[in-house]
Amino acid sequence: MDFEIPAKFEPLRQMIDWIGETYLRPLGIEADRQGGALDPAHPFFKEALKKGLTGGFVGKIRDTERVDDGRPRFGARRAVVLAERAAYWDRGMATSLPGPGLGAPPLMLMGNEDQKKRFLGMFKQKETPRWGAFAMSEPGAGSDVAGIRTRARPDGDHWVIDGEKCFISNGARASWVVVWATVDPSLGRGGHRAFIVEKGTPGFSVARVEHKMGLRASETAGLVFDGCRVPAENLLTPPEKSGGFKGAMKTFDMVRPLVAAMAVGMARACYDEAARFAESHFTGPSAWRLERVGDRLAEMRRKIEMSRLLAWRAAWLTDHRKPNSAEASMAKATCAGVGLRAATLGLDILGEAGGGGDYLIEKLFRDVKALDIVEGTGQIQRLIIARRLIGYAGDHQRAQGRDHHGR
Ligand SMILES: Cc1cc2nc3c(=O)[nH]c(=O)nc-3n(C[C@H](O)[C@H](O)[C@H](O)COP(=O)(O)OP(=O)(O)OC[C@H]3O[C@@H](n4cnc5c(N)ncnc54)[C@H](O)[C@@H]3O)c2cc1C
Repeated sequence: MDFEIPAKFEPLRQMIDWIGETYLRPLGIEADRQGGALDPAHPFFKEALKKGLTGGFVGKIRDTERVDDGRPRFGARRAVVLAERAAYWDRGMATSLPGPGLGAPPLMLMGNEDQKKRFLGMFKQKETPRWGAFAMSEPGAGSDVAGIRTRARPDGDHWVIDGEKCFISNGARASWVVVWATVDPSLGRGGHRAFIVEKGTPGFSVARVEHKMGLRASETAGLVFDGCRVPAENLLTPPEKSGGFKGAMKTFDMVRPLVAAMAVGMARACYDEAARFAESHFTGPSAWRLERVGDRLAEMRRKIEMSRLLAWRAAWLTDHRKPNSAEASMAKATCAGVGLRAATLGLDILGEAGGGGDYLIEKLFRDVKALDIVEGTGQIQRLIIARRLIGYAGDHQRAQGRDHHGR
């Protein structure tokens, strides 16, 4: 397995570090203090576009999906490396960068050429910041995505969508949202379809922007669809096929290694913060110092190195067009756990100073929990891994047309 990223990506890596230090970290702190995401008109977003930075880095996987011409692919590996770096500086800001974000994978996987041109083409224009979003979760269907209740029914040359979505990243600012709905809940996942719903479509509204304990730089919105009429050409899955659920699951396989890498980046930020604090506050060798600091720093470092390899392996498999569901889940479950552990150990090292809000570690502690929730919680990843290991793909759920965030 070769994790080497071509040298031509090095300038991009360096630029992310520069942007991260100059903008992502300070703006992430600003958003945290103000309690919500920066306004979409904030000059930073234009600046990011000019520098070629786009949302979530998911789009960078695109070259992996193109026709197999035998040439080596690096899109997924490049994306995990960049995601780790950006999240090191600020994960909330990293997912707020303009671009199609999580909306890109379903479009790439299920969209026809015209849809890709219409909805991804707009992001080539570097003047106006734009966002895309991915709306699966509902108040009663988070982990159990097969249980979504948002309905879609055909009506002439349109589809009519009714339902509610919650916790949708960049949902209020998005130019369009990939909305998952069912044509018949009794069909379970077989009834799923994905639609592109454009901002301003009558019947589509933003119910609220959520207040969160962490990742405040990343806007998270509740969306409502009330008799929302969407042109038939905005349906991503052809009606005669039931590929909607599969498309969603493939999206998760693509995105989970990125979330994993982001957790590694945040764990690294915890490590650096704790090591910096220890260096400036604890001097002179003592058993107490070693136990409180050295042992914890060593554990953090060990787990960071270990978990990064899992994220890279899942991405390597994508680049080589090999199935990676179990590996993506292993990476996601492990890395998010390592992020949480690193934040806890970091807080331990800082002691009471860490809890006061004057140090980054407190924000990292609040931010990193979300990585154990998004794209399928830790429990759900463990379910997916277990099913893969014992060759059980949820047969009884399949019989009922139901399944969780896995297959
Ligand atoms: C910051 C943030 C951004 C998000 N962005 C998006 C987005 O852009 N688009 C989108 O569609 N969604 C998004 N989400 C929603 C996210 O995908 C869901 O929160 C997640 O899937 C969990 O669903 P839930 O919150 O409804 O929890 P539930 O599914 O209600 O789960 C509650 C608890 O029960 C556990 N649990 C559930 N089922 C099982 C089981 N079978 N076995 C064992 N344990 C179980 C879970 O692990 C969890 O601990 C976002 C969430 C957050 C926090």
